[in-house]
Amino acid sequence: MTTQKVFFVSFSFSFLIDPSLMLLAQMVYWHSSAHMLGEACERCFGVHLEHGPPTEDGFFYDMRLPADFKGTVNEELYPALVSTANKIAGEKQNFERLSMTKEELLEMFKYNNLKTYFINSKIADGASSTVYRCGPLIDLCMGPHITNTSRVKAFTIYKVCLLNMVHF
Ligand SMILES: [Zn+2]
Repeated sequence: MTTQKVFFVSFSFSFLIDPSLMLLAQMVYWHSSAHMLGEACERCFGVHLEHGPPTEDGFFYDMRLPADFKGTVNEELYPALVSTANKIAGEKQNFERLSMTKEELLEMFKYNNLKTYFINSKIADGASSTVYRCGPLIDLCMGPHITNTSRVKAFTIYKVCLLNMVHF
């Protein structure tokens, strides 16, 4: 049994979009933005991502910190994450869909026991699923997304939660 630190990040943003498409577009927008948050967390802190779904009022991403993480999980992390997320938006990264077998997914994510647990529990043996590439980030996902990261015009983090998670 090992104990691992996990932190949850949530944020909000401002955007311009056709009001008639607001509800559906909001979920797609938030979901896509969660990918950007995950990428920012990977780039800044080398986290292992688990999942980052949209919610009724935003989205979050849960993840595991690397064993050698030396910082403190608090609001002092916000500037680096916001800066990196804005850089990702400026890079105009496209969302690229790829189909992979369960075996390929397990090989790709073998470094991340959160992902391998999810793959083993949700994808049948011999079946395939999709991943999306966005810049250097590749994550399990069914889509849909905005066309590219430049659609996100502002990025602010409101909350970071830290807890200890126990794996057996
Ligand atoms: Zn996605």
